[in-house]
Amino acid sequence: MNFGPVLKIELRKITHNATTVRKALRHNDHSLMVVVKGCCGDPNIVRAIAAGGISQFGDSRMSNLERLREANIKGEFWLLRSPAPDQRERMVELCNGSLQSDLDSIREVEQLRPPDPHRVILMVDLGTGREGFQPNELLRACDEVERMTHVELYGLGIYFMHGSDPAFVETTLRRFGEICNEVEGALGRVLKAKSFATSLVYDHILKSRFVPSGLNHLRLGTVPIIGRRNSADMPTLPGLLTDTAVLEVKVIQTKILSDRPIALLEIGDLDTDISLLRPIQNDLRVIDSSSDHTVVEQTPSATFLKVGDSVEFTMYFTSFARLMSSPYVAKRYRV
Ligand SMILES: *Cc1c(COP(=O)(O)O)cnc(C)c1O
Repeated sequence: MNFGPVLKIELRKITHNATTVRKALRHNDHSLMVVVKGCCGDPNIVRAIAAGGISQFGDSRMSNLERLREANIKGEFWLLRSPAPDQRERMVELCNGSLQSDLDSIREVEQLRPPDPHRVILMVDLGTGREGFQPNELLRACDEVERMTHVELYGLGIYFMHGSDPAFVETTLRRFGEICNEVEGALGRVLKAKSFATSLVYDHILKSRFVPSGLNHLRLGTVPIIGRRNSADMPTLPGLLTDTAVLEVKVIQTKILSDRPIALLEIGDLDTDISLLRPIQNDLRVIDSSSDHTVVEQTPSATFLKVGDSVEFTMYFTSFARLMSSPYVAKRYRV
């Protein structure tokens, strides 16, 4: 018996979103890796994404990738976060490729001699605030990896922190395109992936109609799964669905608090990021939360909630990911 909140996951809608984003990118000859870290290794959701024509999956956590392999999901698996030394051996068993920012780590993969060459995307740090090789060490690193036998230099990649503003994103993507060009010139061949992310960056470039020239690969998680980036009202592309997951929570008490009708719900900060939940019923408003409770206010004209009623929410990606990983939240699938 499951008690407590239920996350209802609409698998067909997720397939629809993945298909929509893949087709939109194909228009610019960009290919798509779907980042599934928010799904917590859930095979049903990742199968629904695969059904949208996606064959490359990225995750930052090896336990998620393990679960997906065990469920026999077909496709290419990529580890997105540089593996700590104790994870490298398991990584080459589980993953076809990884994003890398450290030469020693790549040298060790070469030593481990995986049965098929392990693909790597070398990350480049252009003041983007996170992982990556410095531009002045990149050519030497590419040259060394290119000469390895058990590692394939698959491409170059860039990541932007969430705060990055649109002007910085454009300038930096241009610069990244030039760097990719230089590296291809030096290697005398084209790279399979010139890869950028995230959903926020994708949202920026769609709005500004900026097409980053020379790049051909996007890593997106939020938009193909939830349909919009955190805090945006509208879907990122027309036709994307934002109700791919709906949270259902029971009312456990109602009362009038300084003339305001409120209801207490059986979910709290331990379960998810409450501030990124949105009630579907538009006469409700979340006014407070604590570890175990969420307080919603009802407009005076609303049909008042009773104890035992259900309240439904859509959510942004961070809330979705937290709900997925919470053992206190049951998952129910609709095909
Ligand atoms: C999480 C992540 C992404 C995807 O970001 P979204 O905002 O969910 O689209 C892409 N690349 C890397 C390295 C990531 O860690």
